[in-house]
Amino acid sequence: MKYISILGSTGSIGTQTLEIVKELPSKFKVVALSAGKNIDLLTKQVKIHQPEVIAIEDENLLLDLKNNISDLRLENPPIILSGTNGINSVAGWDSADTVVTGIVGCAGLIPTMTAINAGKNIALANKETLIAAGSVVIPALKKNKSRLLPADSEHSAIFQCLQGLPNYETANFLTGQIPKGLKAIHLTASGGAFRDWAIEDLKNVTVKDATSHPNWDMGKKITVDSATLMNKGLEVIEAHYLFGTSYENIEIVIHPQSIIHSMIEMEDSSVLAQLGWPDMKLPILYAMSWPERFKTNWKRLNLSEIGKLTFKEPDEFKYPCMGLAYAAGKSSGTMPAVLNAANEMAVEQFLKEKISFQEIPTFISKACESHMENLNLSPELEDILEVDNWARVFVKQEIKKGKYIVEKKKTAVLR
Ligand code: NDP
Repeated sequence: MKYISILGSTGSIGTQTLEIVKELPSKFKVVALSAGKNIDLLTKQVKIHQPEVIAIEDENLLLDLKNNISDLRLENPPIILSGTNGINSVAGWDSADTVVTGIVGCAGLIPTMTAINAGKNIALANKETLIAAGSVVIPALKKNKSRLLPADSEHSAIFQCLQGLPNYETANFLTGQIPKGLKAIHLTASGGAFRDWAIEDLKNVTVKDATSHPNWDMGKKITVDSATLMNKGLEVIEAHYLFGTSYENIEIVIHPQSIIHSMIEMEDSSVLAQLGWPDMKLPILYAMSWPERFKTNWKRLNLSEIGKLTFKEPDEFKYPCMGLAYAAGKSSGTMPAVLNAANEMAVEQFLKEKISFQEIPTFISKACESHMENLNLSPELEDILEVDNWARVFVKQEIKKGKYIVEKKKTAVLR
């Protein structure tokens, strides 16, 4: 039996994790749950899973949550906490052995560090944590003998393929050590909401357009990231930190069917791929069940039903965020944290209809350029938190200054 704590239980990753727990009650038991604001859904989850502790980030909702839980009249009601401390308690909860990180954005950084410092196994969905603070997270994993398993489908695919390499040291995996025999990583991308749109039409994108994904059902922020392909850019940095691969050896290929979840290329030119339906439950389950494979009744992959798998090169002018992410990753130090925070703020402002879709990369590019002279190549956690805050304020102020004219070439920072 594995004892699970879920950070962000009310989101897309969180609710899918709970579905898995419900399907496999002899394998998993939920002991701790945390959410941002959604106390109604959290209450329903408590009724079903009866955890030992819950936390809500928004302290103003604590009283309402307590009333909701009291109305359930449970024999063993959970401890109810709130705010940052409450979320951190859930992250480091004693009886949990595995923490699923489904909080969106850099808000997940401190709770993830808390879980690592408590020696928990991490099923990492919250990629922003690793993008912003990979240089701090990876050493902390080693120090605390905490194991990080990727729940992101692409990195789960790579991890599954890597286990096919000879002499692959599972004891050392996912700590930035380059696996022997690995030449390159090929990350597949669905192409997001606008894969079939002409570049000229992107100026007319609405929030509704950008939050409708053709293949995956996800939270709003990651759906917009998929549409800009920043999600893939962030995943390039995530892959660099997890597998130690240089940026030159991490490639992106558009694969609209999302059946191949990513591939590894070996020194002898052989390529291994992991396939499956586009369903996040599989990588989440594997991050929780590793090294075992648990039996499910999920729909079996049927290649004849799919018919054909297609691939194409991503367009760097249509998707400038990709180039920005490669550039920030190569700059290293605090730059990925700036990229990530600027992106979070720009996406938030786009969702509030304060900027256009095509202005998202413009503001990220400005923040990264502006940070160049203060780049810190060996940041501590405090430095990362500081630049994260700086980049958010910077982007907000730039937006206040007025509308930017989108110049296609200017925003396309190429590798
Ligand atoms: P959602 O927006 O669906 O869910 C986010 C969760 O985080 C919610 O439970 C929300 O609570 C909670 N939350 C938000 N802000 C805070 C905060 N400040 N403190 C504590 N909790 C907070 O996001 P997703 O599930 O889509 O994504 C979660 C993470 O997983 C992201 O990092 C994303 O990149 C990654 N990921 C997601 C995939 C997917 O299929 N969804 C695929 C691969 C990676 P509430 O709703 O109660 O306010």
